[in-house]
Amino acid sequence: MANDLFNSFMTGPDEQGRFGDFGGRFVSETLMPLILSLEEEYEKAKTDESFWAEMNDLWTHYVGRPSPLYFAERLTDHLGGAKVYMKRDELNHTGAHKINNVLGQIILARRMGKTRIIAETGAGQHGVATATVCAKFGLKCVVYMGAHDVERQAPNVFRMRLLGAEVVPVTSGRGTLKDAMNDALRDWVTNVRDTFYCIGTVAGPHPYPAMVRDFQAIIGKEVREQMDAAEGRLPDTLVAAIGGGSNAMGLFFPFLDDTDVNIIGVEAGGKGVNAKMEHCASLTGGRPGVLHGNRTYLLQDDDGQILEGFSISAGLDYPGIGPEHAWLHEIGRAKYVSITDVEALEAFQLCCTLEGIIPALEPSHALAHVMKLAPTLPADHIICMNMCGRGDKDIFTVAKALGFEMGNFG
Ligand SMILES: *Cc1c(COP(=O)(O)O)cnc(C)c1O
Repeated sequence: MANDLFNSFMTGPDEQGRFGDFGGRFVSETLMPLILSLEEEYEKAKTDESFWAEMNDLWTHYVGRPSPLYFAERLTDHLGGAKVYMKRDELNHTGAHKINNVLGQIILARRMGKTRIIAETGAGQHGVATATVCAKFGLKCVVYMGAHDVERQAPNVFRMRLLGAEVVPVTSGRGTLKDAMNDALRDWVTNVRDTFYCIGTVAGPHPYPAMVRDFQAIIGKEVREQMDAAEGRLPDTLVAAIGGGSNAMGLFFPFLDDTDVNIIGVEAGGKGVNAKMEHCASLTGGRPGVLHGNRTYLLQDDDGQILEGFSISAGLDYPGIGPEHAWLHEIGRAKYVSITDVEALEAFQLCCTLEGIIPALEPSHALAHVMKLAPTLPADHIICMNMCGRGDKDIFTVAKALGFEMGNFG
């Protein structure tokens, strides 16, 4: 790929919050002042050493960073090709990468004098991370969740309530993640004075996609150092699963200008990208439109109605993808593929028995792509995949998919 000293992939977004044709700030006038004050505060924090000192302290003592970089030796032997490393972000407090970002936003909220935090959540993982950090700081927390998801994700709803959060079931629209996002935005406009909206992925109006990316970039920064210590060089290929794209952006971003490093995002192919939209592959199977305050690739029907998508992994069923990924896709700096439910389940099981790690279903998609890729590459090729979440939350789904009845494993 052509690149020179004056051309960086890391300078975006522009002042309008655009990554090429994607991103931006498609919000009502009433929301604009809030977004601008958030942007101003974030711009200040970015270069404020005391902000990052607080982040680093909490990352170390509350989250457990740095997460290890782990050489998956038996998996590597089994696949018979490239060397496979895992970035162990599933070992973070609350079991996934989400808390990296939530901490950043909540420290920002505190600096802005906000006392009430709102969030949207689909599968509940971002809601749990937000409720956790709110409990830690004694902040009021309200989580909007589609009524349908409240039913499907009962354990996470209970976790949030244990942590002191109020969970609001959203019945408007079709009662899913998209409707929860709309209600959260409405809440924000109505409660401007004391409320901060904590978004869970690299989506939403500018500056959210860049801000969430910057908080998650700790993942890729650590990988650079850890890989240098382990192998004395950069990895050859990075692989990460994509829902909205925050764990992937966090791993990819610090490597964007190292154009020898291959970057691959893995979307949820559900029952197959060619079947009647029974998937969540926004880039592979969607087209550009506007949702949640930004322009990006979306799952939509011919009339522009947002579709719900389908995946065995609840955490991947965001109907869009972060605008920076849409841009990286269009300029060709990153490649995006999809993995079906069946393939992800196979990778899930292999990871359990070969590595003693029960992965979440989301990174099982990334792992499934690594399983396809590694055997085609030489032994001196290094792949690093992001193990962005642990699988405790998914064992019931997996049991059902594999035909086990819980409580009857005889
Ligand atoms: C939420 C979640 C995802 C999807 O979100 P991204 O923003 O794409 O990272 C992926 N994996 C896990 C474990 C999650 O909890």
